[in-house]
Amino acid sequence: MRLSDFSSWQVLRVTCTRCKHAVLLDPKTLYRAANSPASMSLKDIEAKLRCTACTRKGEVKIEIGPRPGVGRG
Ligand SMILES: [Zn+2]
Repeated sequence: MRLSDFSSWQVLRVTCTRCKHAVLLDPKTLYRAANSPASMSLKDIEAKLRCTACTRKGEVKIEIGPRPGVGRG
């Protein structure tokens, strides 16, 4: 998966595997936060990201899901 593969309704959950700190981010926001080009894969971004809670680097997991609240009328 790369930035161009995402749809606007998709959001990324970034979870730290050490402290379980989790954040929801737009794909665009994630790529900007990781200072990564749109052609970079999610796997490479996982290795670059640093947890804002415990400051560990490269120990996050990125999951793709629908944006919360969409489609609930
Ligand atoms: Zn953490």
